[in-house]
This record gives sequence, C-alpha cells and structure tokens, in this order.
Amino acid sequence: MVDADQTFVIVGGGLAGAKAAETLRTEGFTGRVILICDERDHPYERPPLSKGYLLGKDDRDSVFVHEPAWYARHDIELHLGQTVDAIDRTARTVRFGEDGTVVRYDKLLLATGAEPRRLDIPGTGLVGVHHLRRLAHAERLKGVLASLGRDNGHLVIAGAGWIGLEIAAAAREYGAEVTVVHRGETPLHSVLGPELGQLFAELHREHGVRFHFGATLTEITGQDGMVLAARTDDGEEHPAHAVLAAIGAAPRVALAEAAGLELADRADGGGVLVDERLRTSDPDIYAAGDVASFPHALFGTRLRVEHWANALNGGPAAARSMLGREEIYDRVPYFFTDQYDLGMEYSGWAPPGSYDQVVIRGDAGKREFVAFWVREGRVLAGMNVNVWDVTDPIQGLVRSGVRVDTEALADPHVPLESLVA
Ligand SMILES: Cc1cc2nc3c(=O)[nH]c(=O)nc-3n(C[C@H](O)[C@H](O)[C@H](O)COP(=O)(O)OP(=O)(O)OC[C@H]3O[C@@H](n4cnc5c(N)ncnc54)[C@H](O)[C@@H]3O)c2cc1C
Repeated sequence: MVDADQTFVIVGGGLAGAKAAETLRTEGFTGRVILICDERDHPYERPPLSKGYLLGKDDRDSVFVHEPAWYARHDIELHLGQTVDAIDRTARTVRFGEDGTVVRYDKLLLATGAEPRRLDIPGTGLVGVHHLRRLAHAERLKGVLASLGRDNGHLVIAGAGWIGLEIAAAAREYGAEVTVVHRGETPLHSVLGPELGQLFAELHREHGVRFHFGATLTEITGQDGMVLAARTDDGEEHPAHAVLAAIGAAPRVALAEAAGLELADRADGGGVLVDERLRTSDPDIYAAGDVASFPHALFGTRLRVEHWANALNGGPAAARSMLGREEIYDRVPYFFTDQYDLGMEYSGWAPPGSYDQVVIRGDAGKREFVAFWVREGRVLAGMNVNVWDVTDPIQGLVRSGVRVDTEALADPHVPLESLVA
C-alpha cells in the first residue's frame, strides 16, 4: 500500500525519469518525489539534438519535457547538476551532490540512460573532435556545422548508425563536406540488415556524402592542436576540420553495479537487468529507459532499447510498477528518424539472422514504401518510409504473430488491418 509518507527517488532526469515523475503524480501518488540529474538543464528530449534543433529549425524551448515551473507545481523535488554517486540498499538511501546529501527512499528508479562510446585512438584530445548526447553538445555542434558549411570545411563521422547518419544529413544541409567511415559494409546493418541499409547509403550518396565502408579510424592527426585529418586502418587519410564520433552508446550502469544489482550480459546488450515489470534484482529498485534490459515475451529474448519511445513508455510503466500495479511492460519497440526529406518509423525487432524474407509494399525506388521483416510468414518488424499512419496496423501484425500471405502483405491495395486475423 502506497501512502503519503513514502519517498520515491528517481535517478536520471532524461525522458524516462521525467515521465516516471509525471506518472507518479497522475496516478495519484501523494508522497515525496525526488528527481536527481547530473545535467543542469531541465529534462529534455534528445531526438531534436540531431535533427530540428541541430538544423536551427526547432528552438531551444521546444526540447524540454515540461516547462521549468511544472516541477514545483507538481511537487517534484528537482535536483539538477547533481550526481548520485552511491546507493546503500540496506539503509535504502542514495547519496548525491558535492556535499554528499543522503535521502532515504521507499522505492528507487534508475533512469540513468546511456553515454556515447568514445574513440580510443590517438588524437581525440584535439580541438574539433566531437560527440553528441547532450544539449550543450548540440549547441556546440550547431556552430561547428555552420562554420564548416561557410568555409567549405570537411567533417569526418565515425559510425553509420542513426545518429551518425542524422548528423551527416544535417551537415550536408549546412553545406559541409562529409565522409562517413563505417566498420560494416552497409549502414545500420545490425538493425536493418543489408537490404534496407543500402537504401540509406544511396540516400546519403545522392546528397553528396562519401562513405568509406569496411574501415575504422585509427588516428586523428592535427596541427597546432586542431584536427587536420582522420586515418583509417586500411591506410587511407581523409582531410578533416572536425571529427564526430558516433560509434554507439553504453548503458550507464556504474551506480547499479556498485550497489550489487544484477546486470545483463554484455552479449545481450548489457544494462541493468529487470523483470517484465521493470524491477531489478532488488525488489525496491526499478530501472527504465536506455539503461534497462528487460525480457520481451513477444520476441522471446531480453532487449535493451535505446530509443525515445522506450523512455516515453518505460518510465511511466516503471512508475506504475513502483505503485504496485501489476502491469507487464511489453510494448513493441518503436523508433523514428528524419534525414533530408526521408521520414521513417520502425516497429518491431528483427536483427540479421532472425528473418528469412524482406517484403516490400510500395515503391522503394521512390522511397515511399513499407518494408516487413518476415520469418516463416510472421511479421517480426515493419518500417514505413514516407508512408504515414500505419504504425498501429504494423504493430498489430507484429504483436499478433499470425502467418500472413506475403503477396497480400506486398500489395498496397490490401489493407494491413485485414491481415491481422
Ligand atoms: C542525439 C540523439 C538523437 C536521438 N534521436 C532519436 C530518434 O530520432 N528516435 C528515437 O527513437 N530515439 C532517438 N534517440 C534516443 C533517445 O533519445 C534515448 O533513447 C532517450 O534519450 C533515452 O532516455 P533515458 O531517459 O532512458 O536516458 P537519457 O536521456 O540518457 O537520460 C538519463 C539522464 O540521467 C543522467 N544520469 C546518469 N547517471 C546519473 C547519476 N548517477 N546521477 C544523476 N544523473 C545521472 C544523465 O546525465 C541523463 O541526463 C536519440 C538520442 C540522441 C543522443
């Protein structure tokens, strides 16, 4: 039974943490809610940092989850710019801030997110080497891209994942020269497989991006402390005025690990291990968002999902669990991207090796289609490219697990809804 004397503490003020705090209040929790974040900015959403905000199309105010006054209005005790550095599970306390403030919790949520992986090569200390996770990084990068565009400067991006490609698109819109160096043979291989990864390579080539596939950066060289070029393991050298590392993110598990909470295997993506109700190995501690590794009954595997929708829905799901609601978190994974004039949404989970067929509905050449990843006639995932309002039926197909007629699946005249038995 939850009552007004209880204190719920949330570590991490990203989307998952902020949405969890909101849900505690909308679900009627009247106890203390303490939200602690090491960033100085109020909780904000990260997708615009590599899209509208980076391009100067969205203003700064539009990225915040709530306006600053919202927190006090909802009696959320917000501690910004303060790091939680210890959890004492016996005393049920967390310690945070430079003065080592200690607060007791009845329930604790870890929403510590992820941090960008850094390049571990010579030259990363040079001026002009960047990564992107925070608002301040995006502010800085915006200035860098604008000046590269003005001066015909050259950006080398390490990594052709979502963030690398979105920044490539933004950089081209600013007019910068862009080379993307990527270990694989196609971009986004681990999510889209080779078939659809190629589509993104073509899109970027059409916009003037150069790719160097099958290579990794080995050194960034400089002059007078500034970036001059980026070298790859096959002996090539790309001129560069700036280098951006977009080589993925690692879940921020140090706090959980030091507290002795169980972690997921690295082979499964790592993260804090939680059950289907987002509870960690300690029944009073929960985890949600990028940091959580949860079992997904639909796919029969553990997933750690580094996407906006998982923070948006996982934070509230964890909050409801903290309140004792018996709710299983089994959302179909969903994410989106915008690059140039291509907008897409992806629902499901179908890494290479898990599917036996890719079915295309629509015109892939015109980049107006839906792709389905199918195994034995069952849809594992669907991606709509410049086709809208189909997320619900795609997720319905993924969730239903029904065998579909793949000819009907490929036929745009057959309503998707009619395929969900
Ligand atoms: C540039 C960029 C673009 C993206 N674009 C998309 C997109 O287009 N579509 C999509 O689906 N997803 C996108 N994502 C992913 C999405 O933003 C993340 O999945 C989401 O931010 C995860 O939210 P979170 O709350 O779990 O973690 P985070 O947003 O990482 O928030 C965690 C917070 O906790 C803080 N913290 C960590 N440890 C501590 C501690 N010990 N004490 C105090 N505070 C702590 C962190 O500093 C951070 O502020 C993008 C991500 C980035 C970086």
